[in-house]
Amino acid sequence: LHTTINDYLRQYIRTVPDWPAPGVQFRDITPLLQDPKVFRVLIDAFVHRYMDPALRPDVVAGLDARGFILGAVVAYELNVGFVPIRKKGKLPFTTVEETYELEYGSATVELHADAVKPGDRVLLIDDLIATGGTMMAGKKLLEKLGAEVIEGAAIVDLPELGGSDRLRAGGLPLYTLVDFA
Ligand code: AMP
Repeated sequence: LHTTINDYLRQYIRTVPDWPAPGVQFRDITPLLQDPKVFRVLIDAFVHRYMDPALRPDVVAGLDARGFILGAVVAYELNVGFVPIRKKGKLPFTTVEETYELEYGSATVELHADAVKPGDRVLLIDDLIATGGTMMAGKKLLEKLGAEVIEGAAIVDLPELGGSDRLRAGGLPLYTLVDFA
């Protein structure tokens, strides 16, 4: 019996209906992290892709907060540095910032001004792509500092929201493992 890695990982993503708001199907990735065997399969899927010399980044950037969990481990395994892109007000040093629109209101993310150097090839990681706004804001921050975002990676894509199409159309190649309608 053959199961693809995508179907294998899908079994460990928990859907929580109407959280944090009515109508939202929250795709909870914590069960993937909780089982050491599954966690390893998940991380290795990213590591094997980005070990390829053509795709190997100089730096991994993780998006607050679940992107930190994945990004730090992937960076460690690739033997490259990790930088956090945080929600506004958390980083202590000089930052660059980017504000983007949410369904209701807006959000601002920040990055330390010395987190990457001009010309650095960066892999941007988060747990999930919905509207794509968070990942696009991360890409813009890294580009403000002169870095090149070689790819965006996430465990889950929600393609019906159009975020992954918009990101690709905006020039960001993507690698995601599990789609949910
Ligand atoms: P977006 O900016 O719309 O692409 O939203 C992506 C960010 O919001 C990621 O950091 C996700 O962790 C979180 N997120 C958005 N929608 C969901 C969802 N349905 N389930 C889990 N996380 C979500």
